[in-house]
Amino acid sequence: MSTQLHADPDARAFVARHHRMLIGGDWVDAASGKTFDTIDPATGEVLASIPAGDSEDIDRAVKTARAAFENPVWADMHPATRGKLLHKLGDLILEHADELATLDTLDNGKPFAVARAADVPLAADLFHYMAGWATKLNGSTISLSVPYMPDAQFHAYTLREPIGVVGQIIPWNFPLLMAAWKLGPALTTGCTVVLKPAEQTPLSALRLGELILEAGFPEGVVNIVTGLGEEAGAPLAAHPDVDKIAFTGSTEVGKMIVRAAADNLKKVSLELGGKSPNLLFDDADMSQAIPGVANAVFFNQGQVCCAGSRLYVQNSVYDDVLQGMSDVAKGVKVGNGLDPATDMGPLTSQEQFDRVTGYLNIGQSEGARTITGGGRVGDKGYFVEPTILADTDHSMKVVKEEIFGPVIAVAPFKDVDELTRKANDSIYGLASGVWTKDLSKAHRAAKAIKAGTVWVNCFNVFDAALPFGGYKQSGWGREMGAEVLENYLQTKAVTTQI
Ligand code: ADP
Repeated sequence: MSTQLHADPDARAFVARHHRMLIGGDWVDAASGKTFDTIDPATGEVLASIPAGDSEDIDRAVKTARAAFENPVWADMHPATRGKLLHKLGDLILEHADELATLDTLDNGKPFAVARAADVPLAADLFHYMAGWATKLNGSTISLSVPYMPDAQFHAYTLREPIGVVGQIIPWNFPLLMAAWKLGPALTTGCTVVLKPAEQTPLSALRLGELILEAGFPEGVVNIVTGLGEEAGAPLAAHPDVDKIAFTGSTEVGKMIVRAAADNLKKVSLELGGKSPNLLFDDADMSQAIPGVANAVFFNQGQVCCAGSRLYVQNSVYDDVLQGMSDVAKGVKVGNGLDPATDMGPLTSQEQFDRVTGYLNIGQSEGARTITGGGRVGDKGYFVEPTILADTDHSMKVVKEEIFGPVIAVAPFKDVDELTRKANDSIYGLASGVWTKDLSKAHRAAKAIKAGTVWVNCFNVFDAALPFGGYKQSGWGREMGAEVLENYLQTKAVTTQI
């Protein structure tokens, strides 16, 4: 590995600080005084000590968020002013882009170049995009024809009002971006928030908390409680004074969130796991499609909920595609994310490393043919090789279960009926890809696939204006676009007899 590692001085200084959580306008230790360590996945060494919040801290943060929700400073803030605050936050993210990207590289492992080119600008875009919505959350006027009041006249309209205090629990694969996806629409609609970052990657959210205060959001509108899932996330999901919980993470934990939310019937939105199929037809432009389907699963070390982790290739081109993908995989430079030459960083945690290498073994024992990869890289940090498993079928765990690593299961197909059946044979329905030059074929496939996203001749294309979310067990509701606002609004009908 190269020793010429990128090292943003602001990020280094931030990491070295005493870390506290944000409750109200104050930076505080956990009430218990406990901490946990966040680890650099490139080295396995401790990066920083973080407050281990628990139910007491969550309770305090929820009370603070409730008071801020009811405070006229926020509740009656002019929508245009709210929009300006969001815009300013987007600007501040861009001003601190190198620092924020470095924090995510240190904490998560992803290449700095990727964080700087994708995560950080996408996070800023989300706030800029949402800023525009703040002034456009209009209701409608409705004409009434009440059958039992034939002579009466009415003036009726709807108001779209914020749901209230929102708990947001986010994962570790895109630490800053997931915080932005969640906070942007909640703040646009006038909600207040208790955000619980993932314990593996809390640093960029804490720095974002400082930028939120700098942008001028009133105290208590955003609270950030760090801590472990069971100790801080679970009490947030169960809290009786939280009106809505928004969660991104595993399907397994998503089900726990739903159960925890049942007692006060808080509203729930979920963005969960996936096992997204890529459909590669023999008439595709192979120079685009082969790197496209490979990067669909290698991007972000495969730690992407919509990773294109199942690939179906038309049998006439099956061997050529495997060969081409193998060449792509062999060209991927695995290394420390701070090294500018790195294409793929380490997995984010020891747990994640154990899980992915476990699946590599399972793939072999199930009879999948390893075309390339299949092992760890080096003996320090959580690095694994980009891996292609060929000749897979739907009896195999590596085809059915989410691996969340740079591992793709490839199989040939003969005809479109067989292909559609296989593509939809999953408990998940988050995303999918179709590769063909034939537009009719592409759009027929797009209709047939049961997934919240279909990418045609591209993959992992995100935009703040595009709704993203899952069919089936991949989730409830949508992130981004106009659709996400529905997660944070409720409609009031006002009827006046005139
Ligand atoms: P992964 O299994 O990939 O680590 P998780 O779904 O466990 O992903 O984690 C996503 C987020 O959910 C993290 O912020 C984590 O702390 C949180 N979390 C984990 N378990 C629970 C739980 N029982 N209740 C609420 N939040 C949880």
